[in-house]
Formats: sequence, C-alpha cells, structure tokens
Amino acid sequence: MGVLTEGTPLSWNEIAPVCQVYRSYALSQLIKIFEKFKDHHGDSFLWGDELEFVLLHFDHSKKRVQLLLKAHEILPRLVETNKETHDDTPSIAWHPEACDFMIEGVPCEPYGFLPSYLNTVEANMTLRRKQAQEILSEQSDCEYVINMSAFPRYGNGQFIHSSTQDDSQEVAEKSTYYPDELISPNHPRMKSVVENTLARSQASPLIHIPIFRDTSTPSPFQDLSFKQTKGFRDDHIHLDCFIAGWGCCCLQVTFQAQSLTESLQVYDQLLPLTGIMLALSNACPIWRGYLTDIDSRYEVLFQTADDRTSDERQRSTLSSRCSPAPFYLCDEHNHLNDISLDVDENVVSTLTKHGMSSTLAKHFGHLFVRDPLVVMKENLHPEDDTSSYHFDNLNSTVWNSLRFKPPPLDDDKMGWRVEFRPMDIQITDFENASLSVFMALLTRVILTYGLDLTIPISQANENIVRAHHRDSVRQEKFYFRASGDDGESSLMTINEIMNGNDKFAGLIPLVEKYLNESENINSDTRVTIGHYLSLISKRAAGILLTDASWIRQFVMSHPAYKQDSVVSDEIQYDLMWKITQIANGQDTCPLLIQNRMKTNTQLNPE
Ligand code: ADP
Ligand code: MG
Ligand code: MG
Ligand code: MG
Ligand code: MG
Ligand code: MG
Repeated sequence: MGVLTEGTPLSWNEIAPVCQVYRSYALSQLIKIFEKFKDHHGDSFLWGDELEFVLLHFDHSKKRVQLLLKAHEILPRLVETNKETHDDTPSIAWHPEACDFMIEGVPCEPYGFLPSYLNTVEANMTLRRKQAQEILSEQSDCEYVINMSAFPRYGNGQFIHSSTQDDSQEVAEKSTYYPDELISPNHPRMKSVVENTLARSQASPLIHIPIFRDTSTPSPFQDLSFKQTKGFRDDHIHLDCFIAGWGCCCLQVTFQAQSLTESLQVYDQLLPLTGIMLALSNACPIWRGYLTDIDSRYEVLFQTADDRTSDERQRSTLSSRCSPAPFYLCDEHNHLNDISLDVDENVVSTLTKHGMSSTLAKHFGHLFVRDPLVVMKENLHPEDDTSSYHFDNLNSTVWNSLRFKPPPLDDDKMGWRVEFRPMDIQITDFENASLSVFMALLTRVILTYGLDLTIPISQANENIVRAHHRDSVRQEKFYFRASGDDGESSLMTINEIMNGNDKFAGLIPLVEKYLNESENINSDTRVTIGHYLSLISKRAAGILLTDASWIRQFVMSHPAYKQDSVVSDEIQYDLMWKITQIANGQDTCPLLIQNRMKTNTQLNPE
C-alpha cells in the first residue's frame, strides 16, 4: 500500500499540529516535480499488476479453515528467494500488506510494450503463489496461500489460526470481531493508519451490509453477535473496525504514459470504467459469515478507511479518503466534474501560477485538503530538496478508485503513471491475468482510436454503487458513453458495453480489432489473449459467472446450507478447499472458467 518506510510513526496528536507544515513541504515537492517533468515525453508504455494474497490454515479433520498470521515470517524468506533468482526467471517484489495474513506480490520489473510481455503475465502470477506456497509447505501440509478478496467468516468466531491455544475461549472472545494481532507487525505504516484514522475521526467505523434474504432467514434478521446497540439495524450485518476493510484483497494495475498529457488522457478515460470493471470483478458476497446482498469489497473499504470527523461527514463536499476518483483531470472534461468537493484554493492558485492547468490543479487542491495520516518522526522534515517523499506519502494515503502518480523526484526511471484500483482480486491466475491484460490492451485501444468514454462524475459514481449490487453484471444497467454518440451517455448492460450492440462496437471487439491491426503479435500470444478476452466476454454475457455469483451458488447448493443466509464453518471449509484446488489446477470449475487449450506458458491446466 504505497510508500513504505521504516521509522517511528507519530501519533495523531503529534501529527495534528504539523499538518500545515507537512503539506507545505509536499506542495513545494509537487511544484518541483511539475517543473522537472511537465514537458518530459517519450517514456515507454510500461505497466504492472499487484496481487494480494491471503494465508490459510486448513484443519481437515475438523473441517475448518482459518486465517494464518504468518506474513511476518514468510516475507523475509520471499525477499531472500528473489535475490537468488537467475536473470531468465521473472522476479517478484513482495510487499507487506495491512494484515498479517496478507502479502502483496508484484512483478519486480514492469512489463514492457505489448505484445511480447503479454504471454508472461499469468506465468509470473503463478510463480508468485508458487514461491509463497513452497515456503509454507516446508513447515506444514495444512497451510496454503490463495487469492481471495474477502475471507468468508472474517470477523466471526474463531477465524484466526493459533497453534498454541487452539479452541481456547480466549481466542474466541478476542475475535469478536477483529483483534489487534491481525494488523501486520512488519508494515510500519499500517498500525499508524488504523490508530490515526481512529484518533482523527474520533469514532470507530460502523458499516451496515444488507443481508441476503433466503427462504429461512429470520424476519427481521438481527445480527445478534453485534454487541453495540447504537447504530444497530435490522436486516443488516455490522462491521465495526478499520481492518474489516483493510483485510480485503484487490487487483490493481498501473500504467505509465509517454507524457503528462497522455497520462491525463488515460486517467480520464479509465475513470468511467471503474464501476464497469468493479462489476465484472465482483468476488465478495459473504461478510462475517453471512450471505449478503452486496458482491464487492469496495464500499466496505470506502467506509473503513474514512478518517473524517462527524462534523466533516455532515458536509457533502468532503468524501472519505477512500472513495471514487473525485475529478477528471483534463480541462476539456472539467464540465463533467459535476460533484462539488472541497479544494484548497491556495494550492490551486499556487499550482496554476506555476503553469499547471486549472483542472489538474483542482485535483491536487482536493488532495491537499487531506491531513497526512502517517508521518515518520525521522522523515517529518525533508533532509534536502532531492526527494518528493512528503508528496508521495500524501498521495499514497488517499485511496481513490484511480491514483494519479507523478514521477518521483529522485527516480529518473519513473514517468507519469495511472493506477487502476477498483477491482476485487480473482481466485485464479487465469482470471487475474485476463482482467489485467484486458485493461492494458484497453489503454492502447483508447489511445490508438481516440475513444471518448467520459460521462459525468455523478454517473460514474452511480455506476460504482450499482456495481456492488448482487449479480450486478447480469441484473444492472450502467451509464456508458458509446463512442460516436453525440456525447450523451445512456444506460447499457455490461453485455452491451463489452460485446457491443447495434450502436456500439463493444470494448472487446475494439480490442480484437486493435490486435488484428497490430503486426507483431505472434500466434501463441494471440491464442492466450483470445482466452482472456473470451473469459471477459462470456462473463459479461452472463454465460460464465463472476467469482461472487459462483461463491453464492456454491454456498446455496451446499448440503449443510439451511437457506438461512448463514455460511457455517463447514461450508466455508468446503468452499475454501475447493477454491484452493481450483487455483492450483487440481480441480476445474466450468462455471467460472471454460476449458482452454494448453500453451507452453500456461502453468495452470484447466
Ligand atoms: P503501489 O503499492 O504504490 O501501488 P507497487 O510498487 O506495489 O505500488 O506496485 C506498482 C506496480 O507498478 C507494479 O506492478 C510494478 O511492476 C509497476 N511499475 C513499476 N514501475 C512502473 C513504471 N515505470 N510504469 C508502470 N508501472 C510500473
Ligand atoms: Mg496492496
Ligand atoms: Mg503495492
Ligand atoms: Mg510501492
Ligand atoms: Mg497499488
Ligand atoms: Mg514521462
């Protein structure tokens, strides 16, 4: 999760008096970045994905699976492993994540221009899980690493594995819901994020998720394990902790543009796709052990990363620091910025005086409304003027659906980048590779054909809301602007958006067209990409299921399910074991992924 630095984190009480000073350092660094790189151009198209993993402990005799708090043990080993890999092996950078049952793996070097790299994406993902699994398997044959967006019974009962006090009451009591031991001990920033969010907002978060009403679900349904009566709602599941959201896993993809101008264009065209891709990646129907009416983690994250005070929450112009992308960045799209949000006008006028366009300046003006949430004592004051640490730190502790990443001052290898952040992580490498490669190709299509997908921000936000609804891919319509239209958006199904209709070619046919017109794609790569596009196309058409819909179906057809919305330990065990088998190629799942021809780069037979 962004800039990682060792150091002594300051408490919120220590940060509050220095916020303004901190922002002034960040602002002068941003100005330096802008002056140094604004006319820089000709950077290559580089890109890379980020996968988040969870660690599990299976107890086959008790039919139980629990979260394994071992990231602090295996991360140093993973870092060692990648120091030793040879040049011809794609190497991996491992990062700590928010919780001690999570790790994040990214390709060490970003991928280069298409298509030569596209055939290695999935293999690199598979290698990541393999590396982590090998270390776990040395110690135990019950420990597994998988990609799972939200652990089904996270926050309910004995969901944390403990080798010393298995089954003890103490664990059970502490586990209602989320004990501090979940927080990653080797992530210097995470504890600080949690503590400072609480101290700044002066309240624990309270999230309500509507229950999925099945035939035997009590009416009204009451989340009786929820101890707090204030804020209690019938027919809802309650989460009351920051790490309820931070314990979820996502799939992110970062793209480097040739120039500042191009990066603004990429950002603005990816913005209308955030809700669409969220729907297509939905993977989280179960919360705290209940089937619910939402399919994604994203809204939960918005609410659990919210550091606003109760006064600030009254203002409609200040959203959570984890929220949909606030503004388009290009001046020509400013009229679509139809939600008014707080901006620091001094920041805006300083930046425009330095030659920044007013819409981009407004984006940063909004960023600078936030207080720095994590400050290391050692890095409070800049040592010299060669680094952009303060700006990067501020920028990376705001978690929007897109992140605009300017080049850091002290790294000449980095250009202007855009990070696409909404997607839930998928169960298999094949799905994660499909979504990542599709997004990479889509950026090429957008730039090559000059697509204009922009719609008012209010409609893009509404798409994100709809994307959470149960089975949104098949049930909802989304605002979309079919290119060639006279600039108006209309409500379309995901099937129409992806596969086309009589007015719009469809995003997948546009990618196909781009591929057919590209000269240097070899047939192996073309076959691989064909499988990826086919997955997305069939998912959009409702022929294949999203992970969320498949998980729902699995639970509802499980013999132990009592039609009461409850996902018991036993159901969870069978579900998670099935997922582990599918991810490792030891089981198939035709509803999620159809058969594909084996090519030599596909390590994961389906
Ligand atoms: P963060 O957590 O701040 O989003 P990470 O370092 O975890 O960043 O991941 C960044 C992703 O961007 C990785 O997939 C990495 O390979 C990729 N990447 C690195 N350098 C570049 C670059 N110059 N252009 C595009 N992508 C890059
Ligand atoms: Mg991460
Ligand atoms: Mg990361
Ligand atoms: Mg990073
Ligand atoms: Mg990231
Ligand atoms: Mg550049």
